[in-house]
Amino acid sequence: MPRKPSLESLRATLQRLNLQQKQEIYAWLGEAIASEVEVALAIPPRPEAAVTEQRHYQGKTYQREKRRCNRIGCKCMAGEVTDVGHGPYWYAYWKEQGKVCNQYVGKRTPWEEWFRTETTE
Ligand SMILES: [Zn+2]
Repeated sequence: MPRKPSLESLRATLQRLNLQQKQEIYAWLGEAIASEVEVALAIPPRPEAAVTEQRHYQGKTYQREKRRCNRIGCKCMAGEVTDVGHGPYWYAYWKEQGKVCNQYVGKRTPWEEWFRTETTE
């Protein structure tokens, strides 16, 4: 069963790399962080949503949000969105031709989906 490596074991692995390999990892990590920050900063703030968690996975930023549906009379319309909002559900955000796109993901994230299919076989 695949397990998520700990930071210590990652560090131990990285220390065994030679200088050129470390420089490659350093450059790759710098780009990965920059693109993650760029997408995270570009996500428009939603006053009708509360973000409870944020992750980055395969080039997309995922946010777990509680949201109002804006239907008149729904229980989510009165009170703090953190208390009464629907969810939390995951939403994916990414940049395409300079525009921020978003998509409803649901309760499960792609990494959980992968983990589930790997372990149930
Ligand atoms: Zn509602």
